[in-house]
Amino acid sequence: MNHDHAVPGAWPPDLAQRALEQMPWPCLVLDQRLTIRYHNPVAQRLLAGSAPGASFVALLERSSQAKAHAWLQRALQAPGSAPVELHQPTADGALITVAYHVTRLDAPDAAALLLLTGQPLTDTVAATQRLINLNRRLSVLLSTSTVAARALALDELLDQTLQAILDELQLPAGAILLPVTDADAALRLSAQRGFAPAAEPRLSTLPQHLLAAPPTARQTVVRTPLDGELPLTEADVPAARGPWLALAATPLCDDERGVGWLITTSDRYRVLEGLRDLLDELGRLLGRAIHKAHLYEELRTTSARLIAVLEAIDSGVLLVARDGTVQYANQQLGRLLQRDISAWPGQPRAAVMPALQVYDATPSMGELWTLPESGRVLRRYSAPIHDRYGTPLGSIETYSDITASVEMDRLRDEFVSAAAHDLKTPVTAVKGYAQIARRMARRYDDQRLDQQLAMVEARSDELARLMNSLLDVSRLRGRRLQLSPEPTTLDAVVTRAVRHFEFDLHRRRRTLTLDLPDEPVEVVWDAPRIELVLTNLIDNALKYSPGGEPVELRARVTGGPTPGVHLTVTDHGIGIAPEERERIFEHFYRSRHAVEQQIKGSGIGLYLARAIVELHGGRIWADQARHGGSGTSLHVWLPRQIDALSNA
Ligand code: ADP
Repeated sequence: MNHDHAVPGAWPPDLAQRALEQMPWPCLVLDQRLTIRYHNPVAQRLLAGSAPGASFVALLERSSQAKAHAWLQRALQAPGSAPVELHQPTADGALITVAYHVTRLDAPDAAALLLLTGQPLTDTVAATQRLINLNRRLSVLLSTSTVAARALALDELLDQTLQAILDELQLPAGAILLPVTDADAALRLSAQRGFAPAAEPRLSTLPQHLLAAPPTARQTVVRTPLDGELPLTEADVPAARGPWLALAATPLCDDERGVGWLITTSDRYRVLEGLRDLLDELGRLLGRAIHKAHLYEELRTTSARLIAVLEAIDSGVLLVARDGTVQYANQQLGRLLQRDISAWPGQPRAAVMPALQVYDATPSMGELWTLPESGRVLRRYSAPIHDRYGTPLGSIETYSDITASVEMDRLRDEFVSAAAHDLKTPVTAVKGYAQIARRMARRYDDQRLDQQLAMVEARSDELARLMNSLLDVSRLRGRRLQLSPEPTTLDAVVTRAVRHFEFDLHRRRRTLTLDLPDEPVEVVWDAPRIELVLTNLIDNALKYSPGGEPVELRARVTGGPTPGVHLTVTDHGIGIAPEERERIFEHFYRSRHAVEQQIKGSGIGLYLARAIVELHGGRIWADQARHGGSGTSLHVWLPRQIDALSNA
């Protein structure tokens, strides 16, 4: 500085210099060659290489040098240029941005000097770096896998997250508050850093204090002592330096709702103002992570409950993943299969499941298998598992030990078979005696007696049919039902079946219409059994139309690769609900209508009919009455020639 040229009315030069030395910002004086002539202590401390005689431009970061040079040259030419921002390395190796003002000092007897006063701006480069660090730390902490794996230690996770936020944003204290329960608005302190223990009780009530009204917009609210008294002061934050503690409350929200609060503090309230957007973003990030952690926790509880149920049930359960590996097997499965299943999870199903033998391939529900070593009979149900978009996830298999009930069934079938056998002889005898007696009655022209005896004959026919059915059912269940196909005609089979009803149709004044092809249709069937099927369908049609409506039997020849015959028995009776049309073919199944209307039956007729039809290679199904309205059509399709293979 030039000490000799005091301007009248201005400060004495030494005072001016002292003033510059007191300035809290860097001040420099440059000559026309832009060499540093003077710098104050702040400039010396802050700027790397600042020394009298050094080039000011050379002190700058390269990207700022040309700009600075042009700007200073302009200032030398004309006073009053605008401030510029220049990047400059600091004495401790960081990079800062300084906003410089320049003033040209015109001394009357000397060349002009430039006075630079600088104001370091926020350390943007370092701040950017800190944000990058924060992002990195949070993405590690809050990644789905970490949140999932650490779901049970949510508080610990939040504590670390809070630490990362405070470190990287350089804030002295913060806290995370979560609701005590889902339904409750009360908050609990889940994590806190930097607050004195005495402040903790006041932390959980902070959001209420900070927010005049419940936040509608999910945004950070910043409060300073200027907004009114705050429930916390700088005394609660030992690391705070300034006396002006500002607080920010950031709602943590997932997509739909708030799941807690992030509280942050700073002793410079502008800092929190500046961080508002970032805090909002952090609130959403944390909210989603917490929500995910809650979901995962729920999932774990649900699956723990599910496992408890699966372990408590009486059946063996096996879950198989889509790639064929075992996911889960319960203890009961181990007991049923007499295997140690503890090492099964993760192994291919094919490698661990013992080979089972088919016990019965045609049960109505589930498949029956035996374990050769133990001879136990297992019923297996298996079903694919899909997610809600229909993507296959794997399958579930359940096994139950039904050895005892299979044995019971066998004993029952044997008993029924023996009883039916024993009853057949006397019934045949009764029928025979009735026929002889009828002939005698006719000879004596006793019509009443003839009628009575015809009744005895019809009932013994009915009894014989029932016993034949019972015998066939027990053969079927013992897998001993064999067909004896022989050439015959459709007409012959139908005529024999219908003959059984002649007496009853006449007596009850019922109508059975036949609609058959005109030409004789040659077939190769087990005729007595198809006759049994038809009598069953006709019997049902008459029985389940208690109003006495007519019944129709219709037969049509069908073409196609396998020539066949389509038989339909239609009635206009009580009908079968659509959801029961499959089930009526199950063993002992009786429809709701039939039971309600107390129409007697055993539930084995259609079961046997289906077995006989399928053994012939045909199909049987129920439908709404062919002519519409109430009532039922039962359809049977049979190939004209029984397929030798299907009977093998
Ligand atoms: P059932 O001896 O009970 O008639 P079936 O095996 O012949 O046994 O028939 C099974 C069930 O199917 C019957 O109990 C009845 O509920 C229903 N069903 C069969 N045929 C008819 C029909 N024509 N109309 C209404 N329901 C029928």
